[in-house]
Amino acid sequence: MDRIGLLGGTFDPIHYGHLRAAEEAYHALSLTKVIFLPTADPPHKKRPDLSPFAYRFEMVKLATRDVPYFEVSDLEARLPRPSYSVRTLSSLRETLAAELFFILGLDAFLELETWYHYEELPKLAHLVVVTRGEGGKEAFCAKAKALFPAIREEEGLYRHPEGYTIRYLPILRLDISSTYLREAFRRGLSARFLLPEEVRLFVLAKGLYRSGAGADARGGCGKSPE
Ligand code: ATP
Ligand code: MG
Repeated sequence: MDRIGLLGGTFDPIHYGHLRAAEEAYHALSLTKVIFLPTADPPHKKRPDLSPFAYRFEMVKLATRDVPYFEVSDLEARLPRPSYSVRTLSSLRETLAAELFFILGLDAFLELETWYHYEELPKLAHLVVVTRGEGGKEAFCAKAKALFPAIREEEGLYRHPEGYTIRYLPILRLDISSTYLREAFRRGLSARFLLPEEVRLFVLAKGLYRSGAGADARGGCGKSPE
């Protein structure tokens, strides 16, 4: 049976942190492929400046097009809003005859209790938590036990009695975030080497992340430099 990795995200914009997480999970777990799932309406991110789905989808396509085992899905644009991961996973379970591995960063896992029906997630797919931000395996273990008290330790990972496994996958820590990149673009700073060049050029061509430009972006004195 195929082993499919799933990486959900806002991808506003996609960067090398996302791509390396997918790449490392692909190799470490012997996956058949990884499907990137740009979220249509992220329940946790009510950013008024969220880029349109079509742009975020296009950026993920550009970033992944040369990798035969990476795919992009527009599924969340077709599902009811807001985009809940349990809904997305349930839908994928109906259409894909494969073992599913839901990949997420430790930062996201540490606030999983804020996700809609998070307790259902390990009943739908394996959870793969990759290094991101502060903390490591200890933080992961403590959180996993608090979130899912019924899990049992088994050969270096946890197993949910009604479902799948929950594991920590240490990957190279890349301190790159879309938040940082949006700010860099807004301020006209270099974003080069933090995201694929095609994506960087797309952002510049579409003028993304510039709308919030204020006095700070113009030198901090409230007046445009001549
Ligand atoms: P933002 O700053 O807007 O929150 P982000 O960089 O965190 O953006 P998201 O689209 O929120 O990117 O992240 C999607 C998924 O990818 C999450 O599970 C997140 O933890 C993971 N992720 C994002 N950046 C990294 C990174 N640098 N290393 C590992 N995982 C990452
Ligand atoms: Mg994030």
